[in-house]
Amino acid sequence: MSIQKLTTFVEAMTRLLETKPAEAAVIERGKQLLATLVATDDWLPDAFAQPHPNYYQQYLLYADPLDRLSVVSFVWGPGQQTPVHDHLTWGLVGILRGRERATGYVLQPDGTFKAAGSSVLLPGQTTAVSPAIGDVHEVANDLADQVSVSIHTYGRNIGRVNRHVFVPATGAAKNFISGYASAVVPNLWA
Ligand code: FE
Repeated sequence: MSIQKLTTFVEAMTRLLETKPAEAAVIERGKQLLATLVATDDWLPDAFAQPHPNYYQQYLLYADPLDRLSVVSFVWGPGQQTPVHDHLTWGLVGILRGRERATGYVLQPDGTFKAAGSSVLLPGQTTAVSPAIGDVHEVANDLADQVSVSIHTYGRNIGRVNRHVFVPATGAAKNFISGYASAVVPNLWA
């Protein structure tokens, strides 16, 4: 198992962001780079793919020192899911293993959130969020009996961002900082 694919992705994303492109370009090109990363499931060290019996796990894989991006592995135990939440930055999701279901939520004039349809994503597939294209969603393991793993990249160090979870029916928002399950990051230069 070689971490080189992740290193190559981080380098390519950093070079892309170095040119200060418009967000739409980051999302378009970033999705291509992420699709390449998740096209083969042979590089993520097992330490960053461990499920927890009760909670979905977020393992930090890389954080840019200038806070321009972070890369995180999300590990879903059977049936686990997020609350409805936002990101406050662009975010790209690529499925590495299993099957994931993403449901977008749209703010209504009365302040509540309405589900705007779900999509099921398979390994190699990608999706995006951002305040400009729709930032509020709920993500779930679409498999009731298997672990799913996806790789996420964001325009900030997402585990440190003060953001929100929502009760869709009322629109009630609660602040949250997701943090990370891991105390260590992979050695990208191994
Ligand atoms: Fe999310």
